[in-house]
Amino acid sequence: MRIAFIGLGNMGGGMAANLAKAGHEVRAFDVSEDALAHARQSGCQTSSSAAEAADGAQAVVSMLPNGKIVRDVYLQEVIGHAPADAVLIDCSTIDVATAREVEGLAAKAGYAMVDAPVSGGIAAAAAGTLTFMVGGSEDGFARAEPILSAMGKAVIRAGEAGAGQAAKICNNMLLGIHMIGTSEAFRLAERLGLDPQTFYDIASVSSGQCWSMTSYCPVPGVGPETPADRDYQGGFAAALMLKDLRLAMEAAELAGATTPLGAHAKDLYEGFAADNGGLDFSAIITSLE
Ligand code: NAD
Repeated sequence: MRIAFIGLGNMGGGMAANLAKAGHEVRAFDVSEDALAHARQSGCQTSSSAAEAADGAQAVVSMLPNGKIVRDVYLQEVIGHAPADAVLIDCSTIDVATAREVEGLAAKAGYAMVDAPVSGGIAAAAAGTLTFMVGGSEDGFARAEPILSAMGKAVIRAGEAGAGQAAKICNNMLLGIHMIGTSEAFRLAERLGLDPQTFYDIASVSSGQCWSMTSYCPVPGVGPETPADRDYQGGFAAALMLKDLRLAMEAAELAGATTPLGAHAKDLYEGFAADNGGLDFSAIITSLE
């Protein structure tokens, strides 16, 4: 299948490479020359604009930084440039309102479009083990699913347009909250004289158990290997967690939802990411010293 891929950064670079590896003809575009050179090395052909990549494509996949860029790229370079029977798949994490607006405009022009944000970081993008949460029509999902499967281990339909973004920000709001909760519990346990490994052995089989504890423990040397064991390098940057918490709070306000812990988690990550945005988000535990 001929696929246009727009946005070849930390995530998109690995995802486009996996589509090429699966035998697709990938026409890739990014505003960065380095990203284009890397895409050529991983089996993609490159284009000089998003519109050129979209021309003649059966599918367009994008992995871009934010909603404004997604909106500009689709309105100016994809809609009206890709053939009307192409399926459009935006994998970026953006606000629900923009996702719905762009999908509505694409539908008006006759395209099937889905929002398909991911769970899993740069390593999962490179390994082809992402989880995709998909919003859009049943037809759009059916057409996007085989393409997304070549880049991930799970592809789940969340509902209509914007539902993928909604699932993603609700999931990440919960993740931010329980990472802070896990960090506080370990710090308090330590202050009360408990050995962190002993507390882990108890809590990981008790009712405090959660993913932040047993799969991504913020304490070095406890649980499976995590960014905490590498001085919080790599993993999921605190700046990206802050981005997702801001999107969640924006959505909560628009939807009239009450999310006091989400708001507090956003404030804590705002303070932390100001100087430590490049560290893994589990490094928030170091702000509780
Ligand atoms: P990144 O900054 O590494 O990559 C974004 C790429 O888009 C860059 O290469 C940039 O040059 C390119 N770009 C910007 N404007 C463009 C335009 N107009 N046309 C073409 N290309 C353009 O970011 P990333 O880490 O790859 O993240 C991409 C998306 O994935 C974001 O929405 C992010 O929130 C989401 N995400 C990231 C992670 C992660 O761990 N990095 C995890 C889950 C989701």
